[in-house]
Amino acid sequence: MTNYIGRFAPSPSGPLHFGSAVAALASYLQARSQSGRWIVRIEDIDPPREQPGASDAILNTLTTLGLLWDAEVTYQSQRSRTYDDALERLHAARLTFACCCTRKELAGGPYPGTCRDGHDAAKSARTLRVRIGHGEIAFDDLIQGRVSLNRQSIGDFVLRRADGLYAYHLAVVVDDAASGVTEVVRGVDLVESTTQQIFLQNVLGYPTPRYAHVPIVLDEFGAKLSKQTFAAPIDAMRPSSVLFNALTFLGQNPLVELVDASPEEILDWAVRNWQIRLVAKQSKAS
Ligand SMILES: [Zn+2]
Repeated sequence: MTNYIGRFAPSPSGPLHFGSAVAALASYLQARSQSGRWIVRIEDIDPPREQPGASDAILNTLTTLGLLWDAEVTYQSQRSRTYDDALERLHAARLTFACCCTRKELAGGPYPGTCRDGHDAAKSARTLRVRIGHGEIAFDDLIQGRVSLNRQSIGDFVLRRADGLYAYHLAVVVDDAASGVTEVVRGVDLVESTTQQIFLQNVLGYPTPRYAHVPIVLDEFGAKLSKQTFAAPIDAMRPSSVLFNALTFLGQNPLVELVDASPEEILDWAVRNWQIRLVAKQSKAS
């Protein structure tokens, strides 16, 4: 075992689909190929978007695929106190402010700073935001290369939502640090949000993990990849074909004879032959 700790962090909004299986497999292989540990975290901090039973269904599917994790599964729903502690630290550092702007008032753009120096006393506070400041936030992604965003284009983002729930970025950063995650492998749809997470790591004094963002499986692939195979819930499919197809999607050129192999045999081959440099930078559909 090395110090490497990787993780897969699904939200239980539904059963594992092929796209999340790809992300799970990539993070698993990146960890195992370096003799590292691989952990699973259930991101269940958004009850309105969750589906009853989805957490267990996801864990069962991972087990069926042979993607076995090392430590006890963590659930974000049980970690409110830790998130509160982080919010308290950011508050003490004068990095947070209450915001009364509605989503409609902000019209989807980066936060214009309306409540940064105190909000309209006639309105009540809705969200808690963080002061992001000025300048670039950049990192070198193992697959996507250099990623850089200007803080003004990101804007002061929300840490606690109007409904009182913790924002995704806060929970992710606190949990990755608590678990000692050294490298995050996940879908490229999250590549830009990495800059917000790096910002929070910096102000909370946490180390920044390495990042690798893999292509995501898009609906537009329907033309190339059979919908029957890829849109169906994973648990209804043969685990070996899921793994084989996910390896193919990740550019790993699995041996043809592995089509009929067991999940264990496929994973054994994949761990020994995993090459992250073969993963496409962009999804082929884009
Ligand atoms: Zn505001």
